[in-house]
Amino acid sequence: MIMQTLQGVAVSPGLARGKAFVYKAEILRKTCIEGGDGEGVEPIRADQHERIINAMHDVRRGLETDADHMSSVLDNHAGDIFKAQSAMLQDKMVLSDLEQYLSKGAVDAEEAVRAVFALLASRFRKSVSIATRARGDDIEDLSRRLLQSLRGIYAHRLEGLPNGTVLVARQLFPSDTVFLSRSSTVAVLAEFAGPAAHAALLARELGIPCIGGISRIVHLANPGDDIIVDGNTGRTLICPDPEAVQAYEQRCAETVIASKGAIPIARSITMTRDGVAVSVMANARSPEDVTLALHNGADGIGLFRTEPFFMASKHLPSVQEFVDFLVHSLEPVGNLRVNVRLLDIGADKNPHYLPMPAEPDPFLGRRGVRVLLRYPDLLAAQLRALLEVSRRFTMGILIPMVTLESDVIRVVETCRMIAKDMGMGAMPPIGAMIETPAAALTVGRLVQHVDFLSIGTNDLTQYTLAAGRENPLVSEYFHDDHPSVLRLIALAIADAGSTPVSLCGELAGRSAAIPALLRVGLRTLSVASTLLCDVRKTIRETTTSADKAEDSHTSTKQDPT
Ligand code: PEP
Ligand code: MG
Repeated sequence: MIMQTLQGVAVSPGLARGKAFVYKAEILRKTCIEGGDGEGVEPIRADQHERIINAMHDVRRGLETDADHMSSVLDNHAGDIFKAQSAMLQDKMVLSDLEQYLSKGAVDAEEAVRAVFALLASRFRKSVSIATRARGDDIEDLSRRLLQSLRGIYAHRLEGLPNGTVLVARQLFPSDTVFLSRSSTVAVLAEFAGPAAHAALLARELGIPCIGGISRIVHLANPGDDIIVDGNTGRTLICPDPEAVQAYEQRCAETVIASKGAIPIARSITMTRDGVAVSVMANARSPEDVTLALHNGADGIGLFRTEPFFMASKHLPSVQEFVDFLVHSLEPVGNLRVNVRLLDIGADKNPHYLPMPAEPDPFLGRRGVRVLLRYPDLLAAQLRALLEVSRRFTMGILIPMVTLESDVIRVVETCRMIAKDMGMGAMPPIGAMIETPAAALTVGRLVQHVDFLSIGTNDLTQYTLAAGRENPLVSEYFHDDHPSVLRLIALAIADAGSTPVSLCGELAGRSAAIPALLRVGLRTLSVASTLLCDVRKTIRETTTSADKAEDSHTSTKQDPT
């Protein structure tokens, strides 16, 4: 085999070697990638009618289970959606339309489902009634379920990857990334993965190297190929020759020696050159992350993301299941501070058991706190679990995707009522995520209702620069150290007054940006556990005054104030 050398963009550091698992385009996904490769087309078979009937049965069974589950743990309204979908599948007209379509000849079951349901959805969407128009989304969802069943997709393809896997993909979505684990996946290579994409975030948190921007990688690598990944330089070797393997082994040995001195540095108090103490916390999403964070000397968990637990679950977790997961995850934290975020779903994170209406602009639609307020029982269940867990930990509760002050007031009020109902004398601190320009520009109002703030620059950047964090077509517009973002951060800190502010977006882990962040007044950063050491080192080399000589290694040249 001839060695291939490919250059991409380094988005998560580290060195790794493993066997390629090539994850090809998902046929059901609405993708934003230009020029799809047409994969996933199944041959036409004779038993198309029977396949449709079987898929309909299968989907109806799933819908009924989901309806029962939703009615018991969420609200009846959500259960009703499933029941209505199930009824739609029993509608004789629908089956007759499908049969008619099949009888046209050279079409398979998938094509018939796509065509018939697209027509049905478009009919509903033309209605003048808002309620009827919304049923168009339910029909689209039904169509997806049927297509999934037709293709026999029950388990996610990334579940149970073999150990030592180098995952090769065009693009990874949040629902894909929840199945990655550091025990099996040693590196990720993606055609599209910008620095704030979920795949990049997760790779950094797992401490596995990730390279994005490798054109046609899914065609260049074959399943099982030996691959060396250098997440520091963005270089990938497919089928490395013996010389390259030897050089890789030599570099691995050097890295082990260098990292031996790193942990003691991480565990000591971090002061800037001019004697300002900076707290360095970690972002986490699992028990393994928390253990690693503590091992690497984190001052606490600045952001515990709850979405991966919900996304990986096959059903809506009960309050007790959520409590058990959190208690198990947070065990190593002891008395250190941990901020757990309420579920931030919507946009690109849609658990299959919580069907959300399709939206024309999902990232500008119902996500984060908006979803929670739309489903009050879901919010109540979340708060009940977090309040229960807060009895055992030094915990704060974070509200995701804040725009309106009134949304924050509603969540705080609900929390107060539930705490009272649970017989709790005092509530844990409640914080607002500052992830939208609206929130950043109204911090003065928000701090009247919350106890702390956490700035999420991943979303703040996409909403300020109008460049989707998962959209490879506009990655050159996604600059989380852009003067506009830094100015919003500076304003938020100034307007927060004495309310503590931390920053937990990916920007906090970028050494080049840290001097600018400290100079606008940030004193708490929360970063991927694997970056704790480097971040502390950078802080020690920085002065908080605007000393221009200090800026020689900083990419952010503009004064954000
Ligand atoms: C952010 O938006 O910066 C953030 C920390 O939240 P997430 O990346 O989970 O959206
Ligand atoms: Mg966010």
